[in-house]
Amino acid sequence: MENVVIIGSGCAGLTAAIYAARANLKPLVIDGHEPGGQLSLTTHVENFPGFPEGILGPELIENMRKQAEKFGTQFKAGTVSEVDLTGRPFKVKSGDATYETRTLIVAAGATARLLGLQGEKELIGKGVSTCATCDGYFFRGKPIAVVGGGDSAMEEANFLSRYASKVYLIHRREEFRASKIMIDRAKANPKVEFLVPYTVDTIHAPKDLVTGLHLLHAKTGEPKTVDVDGVFVAIGHEPNSTVFRGKLDMDENGYLLAKHGSITKVPGVFVAGDVQDHRYRQAVTAAGSGCMAAIDAEKFLEEHKD
Ligand code: NAP
Repeated sequence: MENVVIIGSGCAGLTAAIYAARANLKPLVIDGHEPGGQLSLTTHVENFPGFPEGILGPELIENMRKQAEKFGTQFKAGTVSEVDLTGRPFKVKSGDATYETRTLIVAAGATARLLGLQGEKELIGKGVSTCATCDGYFFRGKPIAVVGGGDSAMEEANFLSRYASKVYLIHRREEFRASKIMIDRAKANPKVEFLVPYTVDTIHAPKDLVTGLHLLHAKTGEPKTVDVDGVFVAIGHEPNSTVFRGKLDMDENGYLLAKHGSITKVPGVFVAGDVQDHRYRQAVTAAGSGCMAAIDAEKFLEEHKD
C-alpha cells in the first residue's frame, strides 16, 4: 500500500514528489507516456526563477527528478490505463501492475497538439515551438509564423510581435474560433499578416533549423512559400485526463476541475499542473501547484490515519 501515487513526471509531478518525499511519504511516481513532460521537449528555459543564465528544459527536469529521488521517491515507467476511485485505497493500473494508494496526485499534464508534419517533432527547439511565452524571446528581429485560428493563436501572434520582425498568422479556414476581440487585436497589429485559408504542407529546415514553410491554399491548392525562422504551433492542447472521465469533474475540454488549488470531488485525490490548467501552463506554475497538491495530500493523510 502506497501513501501517495503521483501520475506524471513533469514539473508538477516531480515537485509534488519532492515535497511528499521530504514529508517521509515515500511517493511512487508513474512516469507517463512522456517522461519529464513538456519541459523535456523544450530547449532553453529562461523564466524559471533561480537560473539567471537560463537552463535547458531536459536538464531542469533531470535535476528535479534527482532531487525527488534523493529524498526517497520511487519511479515506475509506464502509463496509467485505469483507475478505481470508488473507495480508499484507490487502485491505479499501469501495465501489469495495480497499485493501491491512500492518496493520489494527478499531474498527468497536457500535450500540445502538433500538425503531424514530417520532421515537426524533431524540430522542436530548432524553430518549431508550442510555447510563445517560453520561446518568443529567441526570435528577436526575425520573421516567424503562428499556426491556428483560436484564441491561443491570436494571443501568441500579438505576444510574438513584440520580438519578431513579422508574424504570419496561418489558419486553415476563413472563419476563426477565436473571439472577435482577439481577432480584431491581431488584425490591428501592423506586424501581423493573416494568411487564410492556408494549410502548412512542409516545414523547410535544410540544416536542421527552420528557414521557411511551404503552404497550400485550402480552396485552390495554390502553393505559397514564406521565409520564417520559427513556427509556433498554436492549435490547442489535449489534457491527459481520459482515464478520469466520469470519475473526476472536468470541463468541456477535458481539463480536471479543482477547488482551492488541488482538491477534487473525491477526498484523497488531488490534481496539479497542466492537466487542470489551460490558462497559465508555465513550468513555475506547474511546480507551484505540485507543491500545493503534495501539501494537501500530506494533510489528508494526517487527518485520515485509519
Ligand atoms: P482552440 O480554440 O481549440 O483552437 C484551435 C485552433 O487550431 C482552431 O482554429 C483549429 O482550426 C486549429 N487546428 C486544430 N487542429 C489543427 C490542425 N491539425 N491543423 C491546423 N489547424 C488546426 O484552441 P486554443 O486556441 O488553444 O484555445 C483553447 C481554449 O482556451 C479556448 O476555449 C480558448 O478560448 C481559451 N483561450 C483563451 C485565451 C484568452 O481568452 N486570453 C487565450 C488562449 C486560449 P479549426 O477552427 O479549423 O478547427
